[in-house]
Amino acid sequence: PRTEETFQLQRDQILLDEEKLGSGQFGSVKKGECRLRNGKKIPVAVKTLKNEDVTAKDDMMKEAKFMMNLSHKHIVRMIGICDAECIMLVLELCPKGPLNSYLKQNKSLKQSTIVELMWQVSQGMSYLGKKNYVHRDLAARNVLLVHEHLAKISDFGMSKAVGRDHNYYEAKEAGKWPLKWYAPECVYYWKFDSKSDVWSYGVTLWEATSYGEKPYRKMKGQEILRFLVEENQRLPKPAHCHDIVYNIMMECWTYE
Ligand code: ATP
Repeated sequence: PRTEETFQLQRDQILLDEEKLGSGQFGSVKKGECRLRNGKKIPVAVKTLKNEDVTAKDDMMKEAKFMMNLSHKHIVRMIGICDAECIMLVLELCPKGPLNSYLKQNKSLKQSTIVELMWQVSQGMSYLGKKNYVHRDLAARNVLLVHEHLAKISDFGMSKAVGRDHNYYEAKEAGKWPLKWYAPECVYYWKFDSKSDVWSYGVTLWEATSYGEKPYRKMKGQEILRFLVEENQRLPKPAHCHDIVYNIMMECWTYE
């Protein structure tokens, strides 16, 4: 069984590189190496907090606890957590980084390869759905690449378990939400379930097949809702996207 102890790391098990992989809202992500209990050393990504902000620390612990329950080939694996001079979340390293930036720089990648990667993402999402979890932040920036043919879903900072009483998660307050990826019921009623993750999957598929382009360009929240709900319009077919793939994203955006 995977308990909290299983995931506890000592500070001396983690070796941090100078290389920064990215920065999030509250801290940075650095490349590193982790020595496991069996002595094996593996490359990792280490998420640390800038300062000891209590809410940020709480959020990171929540993210870690959520990730403890996940084990899937297409979901970033949590190696452990270390509470030392600062709190560190140690994750399996995805050296090629986020899918959107990778595609922006590799426009010669075949659509068939993109479809292969997005199929992998669908497998990971299906696993989450079956466990009654909602991701709530699925987007191309949160799909990380190990290599050109291996994608993993990351960033479980907003993820929730869907309650037993309802078959959806109802947000108590609106936060900094990725509205362009959200289904209308999320924006109107703050309700999230696997079907709203499916809507986000459609937007992610659109980003991927358009080589990392921004969805809805410069449109703002209200404008997007008018476009989607009142005018019943959808994002256009990306230039190189196959009809079959575009039909799949259109299905993800079915209003009912
Ligand atoms: P935000 O909520 O703003 O997207 P965040 O604080 O949740 O950011 P992450 O998205 O988890 O932070 O990570 C920030 C960046 O660090 C990512 O965009 C990515 O470039 C890099 N990164 C995160 N995890 C990994 C990993 N496992 N392997 C490689 N790079 C990673």
